[in-house]
Amino acid sequence: MNPFDFATAANINDAIARAGAGGSMYLAGGTNLVDLMKLGVALPSHVVDIKQLPLRGIWTDAFGLHIGALEKMADVQANPLVKAYPVLAQALNGASPQLRNMATIGGNLLQRTRCNYFRDTAMPCNKRSPGSGCPAINGENRAHAILGGSDFCVATHASDFAVALVALGAQLALADATFSRTLPLVALYRLPGSTPQLENTLLPGELISAVLVPPLPWATRSTYLKLRDRRSYGFALASAAVAADLATDGTIRDVRVAVGGVATVPWRAYTVENALRGQPLQQSVVDTAAQQVVVGARPLAQNRFKVALVQRVISRALLSLGGTNG
Ligand SMILES: Cc1cc2nc3c(=O)[nH]c(=O)nc-3n(C[C@H](O)[C@H](O)[C@H](O)COP(=O)(O)OP(=O)(O)OC[C@H]3O[C@@H](n4cnc5c(N)ncnc54)[C@H](O)[C@@H]3O)c2cc1C
Repeated sequence: MNPFDFATAANINDAIARAGAGGSMYLAGGTNLVDLMKLGVALPSHVVDIKQLPLRGIWTDAFGLHIGALEKMADVQANPLVKAYPVLAQALNGASPQLRNMATIGGNLLQRTRCNYFRDTAMPCNKRSPGSGCPAINGENRAHAILGGSDFCVATHASDFAVALVALGAQLALADATFSRTLPLVALYRLPGSTPQLENTLLPGELISAVLVPPLPWATRSTYLKLRDRRSYGFALASAAVAADLATDGTIRDVRVAVGGVATVPWRAYTVENALRGQPLQQSVVDTAAQQVVVGARPLAQNRFKVALVQRVISRALLSLGGTNG
């Protein structure tokens, strides 16, 4: 591991001031950052431990559901206010119980890709080492993206929770040295384009302080369906976060769909949503609407199966919401 300075932030301003130094990184649960430091993929010169900061709490008010960035995945998953949105609680069932007890919500949203080329410093990777190339494009690419990729990078985004939050239109509360702002979560993530090393739109040293899920009462009818190679420690090959507002006759009044495991960023499927509104929730309708998600998809040699898989996971997830809102 590379040498680095370590400091525990006394308060939010202290954290932001310390993180202003070039080469600084925040440490929350450490389950992703420490892993990448050991691999030599992350090389911070300063590590700022933020675990003591008061970025906690889960509550609702007129603005929606607030989740502090330092809340642990396990605590968020078990919280009754979160459980009211099944899609959120279910999306937090990844990793393992031990990891969920360490890992925080802010860290989950900013975790790095699981692309094996990115994680192997003996290999070229444009994301880790800009300009070195992307061996995944013509190499082992079964797990890679069919949506949102570029000639420079096809690594998938890894967070399940981000997919569920993007479906529900979540916002982030952010803090930096001079001001605070909110940002739609969907705007946090950058497509790789020709600069895959730039993964998000945070300003240098900016801290995620909380996640806000705006009020969406009908999202009590929601689910997260994740398909993976094995039941634990498995990242999504394809996943769908869906929520539906159904009329008593089963017509879809409103709907949210986002997919994971197939794209370089958490992927809101607006075209699928548009094809579903005003339609009955039935197999033929959802199968046809789900086709919209792969318009423009660019499958690679080993992951063509994801084209069909992502459509099926959307259909299955939506049909599981059947019945009416009462
Ligand atoms: C074996 C294994 C299996 C896994 N399976 C899954 C899975 O199925 N689904 C899934 O979604 N995830 C999975 N994960 C990933 C896991 O959820 C993440 O490692 C974890 O959520 C990261 O949270 P953390 O608090 O440990 O982040 P850290 O490792 O502390 O930080 C991660 C990154 O976020 C930054 N950061 C952290 N908090 C903030 C903040 N508040 N503001 C600004 N920057 C911040 C850090 O600087 C760092 O860059 C798995 C991990 C492992 C090791």
